Order: sequence, then structure tokens, then C-alpha cells
Amino acid sequence: MQPVLSLNGITKFYGKIQALNNVSFDVPEGSVFGILGPNGSGKTTMLGIVMDVLKPTSGSFEFFGKPATSILRKDIGTLLETPNFYHYLSGERNLAIAAEIKGKGRENIPAALEKVNLTERRTSKFSTYSLGMKQRLAIASALLGNPTVLVFDEPTNGLDPVGIAEIRELIKRLAGEGKTIIMASHMLDEVEKVCTHVAIMKRGKLLASGPVDEILVNEDIVEISANNL
Ligand code: ATP
Repeated sequence: MQPVLSLNGITKFYGKIQALNNVSFDVPEGSVFGILGPNGSGKTTMLGIVMDVLKPTSGSFEFFGKPATSILRKDIGTLLETPNFYHYLSGERNLAIAAEIKGKGRENIPAALEKVNLTERRTSKFSTYSLGMKQRLAIASALLGNPTVLVFDEPTNGLDPVGIAEIRELIKRLAGEGKTIIMASHMLDEVEKVCTHVAIMKRGKLLASGPVDEILVNEDIVEISANNL
């Protein structure tokens, strides 16, 4: 099957600091693709390049077999950090504002709320939501343009155990519905539980990538990556 995304020799310097060093991997369609690595390993930089908010210093990548252009990349839904929702407005109203800001139509709001199991609580104020519900609303916001690819940066960061379980379940459900999900994580057990594929990063270099059940059985790689996790 054609990969959704192919990265070829991506290198990124911030001035003299090298954040990514010749990274190449393929993201298969329908996968939950984890980018696993400790702080500073280059995960956020990698996601920024995929989402067209950062330019690589060198290297190229393809989106569905074609050179990635900004237009094609509009088909990516993103969750970088929990958006600044209005606490005194309902979940539904917050999504309407998010749709306006992102230039997406409002017609996808009911489906997005349904996908994240917030239909029943759509008229409740955001301030009454649990941490998991707040993050699910953020994912609903990422779903507004009905994108085929979702990019999440550490989607369970800062959540309580119930919220973490909810978000992990939701990610698996979205993948089951055909979305491809690329997510950064610094938690080995999260990648084991949620992801089908993984790229292991350390200090800007790719240590290994492929299906989780092939890569995470390699004790050397797990140990090297786990040292700082
Ligand atoms: P974290 O989980 O802490 O965000 P990360 O794995 O996402 O870490 P990056 O944030 O991509 O890693 O950082 C990779 C390297 O690039 C680090 O050494 C970091 O200090 C550096 N870096 C990141 N952003 C910038 C920037 N805007 N200017 C200079 N250096 C940067």
C-alpha cells in the first residue's frame, strides 16, 4: 500500500543547533504512527515540518506519493497543544469559533462531536468538562475539516488516568475508521498500547522505524531509547 507520508533525508538546523539529522521513514495509510523519543530528540520539529509550519534545512517528503505542497497538507488535522477554548461557552460554541478561525465549515461540527463522544454534553460549558473531555474537544476541533491525516503532539500530556484512557481509546477508534494518525510521545508504554508503527528518535537521529511488534521486540533499541524516557 502507498504510504501516506514518506520522509527522505530530513535535516533541520536552528542556527548551529541540529534538531534533525537525515531522518527518513514511511507512514503507512491507516496506521497509528508513534514518534517516540526523549525531550529534545526532535519530535516536535518533525511534526512541525510535516505540518508545514517549519521548513527543513534539507531533505524532502511526499504526501500520498506526491511532493508535499501546502495545499495537500491542508488535509491534515492538527493538535499541537490544547487550544484556548472559552471556559464560559459550550463545547459546541467553542467548535463554531474554532471552525471560523480555521476557515472550516460548521457542517462537520455534529459529526466531530459525535466522533469524540461529546454529543450529549455539547451544550455544557467548557468549564464543566473533565480534562479528558477538554482534550476530546480539542480532537474534535482537529477533525473539523474531516482530514484523512491527524497529527497529535503528546496528546495525553497533562491528563489524569481517566483522561489518558479516554484519549488512547479515541485514537484507536479514529484509526479504526480509516484515519492515519501521527503522534509524538515520550512514553514507551503509550506507544505499545496505542500505536501500530513507531519511529524511535534520539538526539535528532532515527534509531529505528517500522511496525511496533517488530521494533519494540528489539531489546537493544528499547534500552537505548528507554535510557532517557
Ligand atoms: P520536547 O518533547 O521537549 O518538545 P522534542 O523531542 O519535541 O522535545 P524538539 O523540540 O524538536 O524535540 O527539539 C530538538 C532540538 O532542537 C533540541 O535540542 C531543542 O533545544 C532544539 N530546538 C527546538 N526548537 C528550537 C528553536 N526554535 N530554536 C533553537 N533550537 C530549537
